[in-house]
This record gives sequence, C-alpha cells and structure tokens, in this order.
Amino acid sequence: MNAPFSGFSDPLRTPVQYLKGIGPRKAAVLEKAGITTIFDLFLHVPRRYLDRTTIVTIAELRRLLAIQPLTSEDALPEADVRRDYTVVGEVRSFRVIGFKAKARFVLVLADATGSMQCVWFGGVQYWKKAFRIGETLAVSGQPSLYGGVMQFVHPAIDRISHSESDAENPSDFPAVDWSTTLNTGGLVPLYPSGQELERVGLDSAGFRRTLDTALRLYIDSVPETLPSSILSTRGLETLPEAIRAVHTPRNSDEIQKGLHRLKFEEFFFFQLKLALKRSLLREETHGIPFSVKSKLARQMVDTLPFSLTQAQIKVIKEISADMASARPMNRLLQGDVGSGKTVVALTAMLIAVDNGYQAVFMAPTEILAEQHYKTLSSLLVGLPVTMRLLVGAQRSILRRDVLEDVRRGTAQIVVGTHALFEKDVHFARLGFMVIDEQHRFGVMQRASLRRKGENPDVLVMTATPIPRTLSLTLYGDLDISVIDELPRDRKPIKTILKDDRERDSVYAFIREQIAAGHQAYFVYPLIEESEKLDLKAATVHFEHLQSKVFPDLRLALLHGRMPAEEKDAVMTSFKKREIDILVATTVIEVGIDVPNASVMVIEDAERFGLSQLHQLRGRVGRGAEQSYCILLTKGWIARRAGRTKSLDDLMRDTDERRLAERRLSTMVSTNDGFRIAEVDLELRGPGDFFGTRQSGVPEFKVADILNDSALLNEARRDAFDIVARDPRLLQREHVMLAERMRVYINDELSLLRVG
Ligand code: ADP
Ligand code: MG
Repeated sequence: MNAPFSGFSDPLRTPVQYLKGIGPRKAAVLEKAGITTIFDLFLHVPRRYLDRTTIVTIAELRRLLAIQPLTSEDALPEADVRRDYTVVGEVRSFRVIGFKAKARFVLVLADATGSMQCVWFGGVQYWKKAFRIGETLAVSGQPSLYGGVMQFVHPAIDRISHSESDAENPSDFPAVDWSTTLNTGGLVPLYPSGQELERVGLDSAGFRRTLDTALRLYIDSVPETLPSSILSTRGLETLPEAIRAVHTPRNSDEIQKGLHRLKFEEFFFFQLKLALKRSLLREETHGIPFSVKSKLARQMVDTLPFSLTQAQIKVIKEISADMASARPMNRLLQGDVGSGKTVVALTAMLIAVDNGYQAVFMAPTEILAEQHYKTLSSLLVGLPVTMRLLVGAQRSILRRDVLEDVRRGTAQIVVGTHALFEKDVHFARLGFMVIDEQHRFGVMQRASLRRKGENPDVLVMTATPIPRTLSLTLYGDLDISVIDELPRDRKPIKTILKDDRERDSVYAFIREQIAAGHQAYFVYPLIEESEKLDLKAATVHFEHLQSKVFPDLRLALLHGRMPAEEKDAVMTSFKKREIDILVATTVIEVGIDVPNASVMVIEDAERFGLSQLHQLRGRVGRGAEQSYCILLTKGWIARRAGRTKSLDDLMRDTDERRLAERRLSTMVSTNDGFRIAEVDLELRGPGDFFGTRQSGVPEFKVADILNDSALLNEARRDAFDIVARDPRLLQREHVMLAERMRVYINDELSLLRVG
C-alpha cells in the first residue's frame, strides 16, 4: 500500500534537485518560486499553449501566404492558443549577413517542395555553431515575406535525428515522431517564468526540457490520491493522466480536462485540511453549555430605541444555539458596516454574564476599544452589569485596579486590545470572547487568548465583507453567520465623484447640510511611508478650511498621533454636536458612530483602497436622514502628466489610473459591501486583499479562487463529506488521502492542533 511513497521514487517527496540538470543554484531559484519537489514541478502548469500541430510543406506554406498575410497577432490577439505553422526540412546553407549590431543569421531550409529562410537577429555567434549542413530540422513559426523570400523570424526548432526522419519515405513529409519533439509539431506549452528563473536557464523552453525529463522518470510513480468514488462522481481524470495531459497535450480537450483535475486537486486538499481542523475543534466537548434564556439580554434588547432586523434575530439564534451546546463555539459574524453587529455581540456577551461567566470584547486598536467601550456602556445603561476597559496606555494605578476586577470576576465584561493577552491578565471565569476585525489578529493570538479561559466560545466579527468564495477558503474551519440586511430606516448613501475644480460647489453643499442641522467629515489619506507629510497636509488643510472656508463654523482636527484624551475629547464633542465639521485622517475608518453626520468628503479619493473607501463611507448613513459621500479627486491626472516619464512609468501610470477609476466608479455605483469586496479582490488579487502579512489567503498554483469558485465548492463538499464519515482518515480508501495530507501540511501540524 505504501509502495509509491517509499524512497525517492515518490514525486511528492522527491526534491527537484534529484533531477539531472537541476543543480543547487537552479534548485534554490525554483524553491523561491514555490517549487521544491518533483510534484511541485508537475503543478507548474503552462500559462498557455502554442498550437504547432499544423504541419505543412514549404510549397503549401507559400500558397497560404499568398492567399492572405498571416499576421497571427492580429488574428488571435487574446486567444489562449496561438496557431503556428510547422515545416520539416534539411539545412542547405547558413551565413551571417551584416555587421555587429545589425548582423543577422540566415539559414536556408529545404524540403521536397521548395526552400525558405529562417532568420535570427542577435545571438549570431551562437547560431553559427548550432547547425550542420544536411541535418533535418523541424521549425515552427509565422511565415512572412521579405524581398520576395519566405521566412520564419526566430522560429522554434527541434532537431530530428535520422532514425526519426525516414529517408525512404516517398511522401513530401519526412516521418517524424512528434511525441518526441519539445518545441515544434504539437501543442507546445509556454511556462510562466521570471527574471531569476530565466537567468538560470529556466525560461519557457528550459521548463519544457526539465519537465520532459521529470515526466519520463517520475510520471509512472505519481500515485492516485483521490478515492475512486470522487473520480467517478466528479468525472475527473486520474492524477498521472492529468499531469501528463497539461504538459504534453495531444489536443485542447486534454488540456482542459487535465487542468480541471489539477485545480480540483489543489482545492480539495486545502479544504480537506480545513475540514480536519474543524473536526478537531468540534471533537472538543469540554466547552460551556450556556443556558441561553437570559434576562439581561432580553432587558437590553427591550430598551433599544429600535427593533432588531430579521437578520440580527437570525444570527442571534445561530449564536445562541452554539452557546447552548457543550462544544466550544467558533463562529464568524460577517456584516457590512452599519448592519448592527455590536448589539448582536452584546446580546451574546450578556448570555454569558447571566450564566456567571466573564466576556471579553477585543478590538484591534485602542481608539476602537475606547469607542466600543462607550457604545457598549450606553447600551448597558440601567443594567446591573460591570464593564471595564483594559488598554495598554492606562496609568499603572488604574491598570492594577482593572486587573484586580478581572481576576476577581467583578469585571463581567472586559473591553480591550491585545493588552488582554498579556501575562499578568488573569480571568476569574472567562466564558465568551468577541474578537472584532478578525483579520488583524493572528491565529496564535486567538489561541493564546483562548487559553485564558475554560474553552470559551469565540465570536469573530468582521466588518470587511468577505466574498463567499474567499470566506470558504479562509474561514472554512469556522461556522459563518451573515447579517445580510441593513436596518430598515436607512436610506442608501448617495456617492458622488467630484473634481478638485468643483470644490466650491462641494463647500456650498456642506454649508447647506450643516444649516439643516447635520454634521460633516473631511477625510485625508494617511499613507504609511509619508505619514508625517500627510499629517502636515491634513493640518494645513484643516487650518485653511477653518480660517478661509468655514470661519463661522466649528471645526476640529482628529488624527492618530494625538494623545488619547485629546482624541476622546474631540470625538465626544463631535458626538454632542459641539463640532460641525470633523477633519480627520483615516483613524475614523471604523467604529465612529455619529448618526447625525450626514456627509463625508474624502480628499484624494484615488489614493484609497476600495474596501477602505467603503469602510469610511460607512461612517455616514447611520441615521434615518439622506447621507452623502463625496469623493474628491485632486487633479491627479494633470499632476502626473507634468513629469517626464519612461515608457514603463507611463504604462504603470495608465494601469494605476485604470485601477483608480475602477475603484471610484464602483464606489459610485454600489453600496453593497459584498459587491465591493468582490471588485476589490478582483483588482488586488487574493494575496493583497487582506494585506499579505496577515492574509492567510492560500496561494493556489493552478486554480484561481475567483474564476474557479464553482469547482472550489465541489471540492469543499467532497472534502467535508469525507471527514464527516471518517474524521481520522482511517478507512482503507482514505489511506492515500492521509499520506498526501501528511506531505501537504508538513509543519503546519502544530497549527492544526492550536485551531
Ligand atoms: P456595525 O458594527 O455592524 O458597523 P453597529 O453595530 O455599529 O454596526 O450599528 C450601527 C448603528 O445602527 C448603531 O447606531 C446602532 O445603534 C444602529 N442599529 C443597530 N441595529 C439596528 C436596528 N435593528 N435598527 C436600527 N438601528 C440599528
Ligand atoms: Mg461596529
């Protein structure tokens, strides 16, 4: 049973360096590109293919060329498969024409029907030694006419040895075994490469040679990893056949089937990992079975000035069902900005408190922890619940006092930041954790906080709507609840794009809004590298607005570098309507809740990311009034044109501009956070979507989370099915799965245990 995995014939474990021609230098570069084993190499699939299956005689090609100029680039600009023509002939002569930089190498090739030229510009010295008169070549390319002579410029070539080309073959075509040619005569794979790879000889042709060797030696030892039941129900190729097909396809149908199988492979094992992780978590039965009839929660909800939305009620039900069970809860609560997650979280925390447990509410920053503390305090007015705030910046006397309350259990709800993780924090009876803005916390932190309690229930909240495809891959080990509805009284925010030149009309509009009793935000970008400069710009603008534009109104500046008390004071007076316009950096991105603020102006809007713009916009539209978000773009197009640029720079600029335009137009056209997240993901790619550091977004080699989401769902269903039936993969038909998982998760095993 284990045979394919023993020793180094197992491609899953064999380092690429065991291949002839791959030395330590190549191996190192390959490793950087994510290729360490032969199997990784097999998953290095072609970016596209050249169709060189059309084999013609020289006379035929000349006729074709006479009928229509064959400019393939125009004919098939975006096609995955480009059609080339392949000719087989004998080398008649070759010579160098011209001097130095203008030198070109010209080779005359002839078959029974005529002759043509092959031309190379550059590399002349190399080509001079590359050929022998009389040898047989297969050449592929696009024919062109130059001074009446038909030629291939820079054709792909294969040498045909004499045993392959049959001299006595009476037809015009020498008999060639096309399965042995790497560059001509078939569907020729083009491999993704890169500068470093090219430098060690691993350009597309280099990968073709390497894969040729690898396939020859190892394809027969590639084991089938999937149970045959999945292969048949999903109609999948076997693994060795899929690998063979994508690298040496006989037709495009094979390519599609092969890629399909390899994509499934990637998704499946990723999902199998999540399924195993989840099942480990679920086996844990030493959680707290809360009694979910909570007087405190009922009282809190009854005193709200609004009734809960259907979506809020639904997720509260899901959460309390988890809480009632003896299994520890691991649930992700997803909801757009303003969907009302806070009340939901508080309801759950009050259930825990009613059961005699402590609950923590953890925010990613101090400013947010303070904000949440205030919001929760106002929701708890009149209820017999003690809540404390624990952040890093507290004075030591206060801190000691808080810690004592936490230790004795008199603090029933503790709101804080990562300060909650510190060693000197001891809970009397921690039973419930709310983690806000999950993606900013690492897995390890989650685990270490969990250890501070008795397997507390965990509710992770995120205001970044995650496209469903991504949340399945990212949080497959968590259960997911979604608040998919905004409170009824909300009017959709109107988003308007304005150029800097229309600034005066924007100011006039702000005046109207304030005259009508509302408040406004001005937001300035703050970008890390130039934080100081940005801050200065914001400050200068603030002074300008106060002294020149709105001298009669009350303005205040808010930024992240202000001392906590000052920030506090500013926010409190904005909430109390003592301030008309809050000029701020992106510190207000999350958490600020001032329903009376009806308009937000975002300066230099083209500099913000899409999700960030959406988060910012979520600060308005929190009341029943019509709200507005004005995106100001500050003459950025003109600014760019003023500089002299290389062509590369210009290309990049055009790209940047295209992206910025797409972000802004998306903002204008929709308020739907999920739609926005989808576009953002598409524009930035999964790696960048959450920022690479904390992303945890897997990188798939063959599959694409965005385009192959249907397949992802199938793979997920199958993987979770198997784990549900056989949680430890002990059944006979799962032996290979277990083995493949062992290779796949490698050193992630420890992570698996942490959960
Ligand atoms: P989120 O954290 O999901 O962005 P919040 O919990 O901060 O949203 O809620 C946004 C605002 O909506 C708050 O002012 C909150 O009091 C209010 N709110 C919450 N639920 C409802 C509801 N069902 N009806 C009306 N307003 C609500
Ligand atoms: Mg919130």
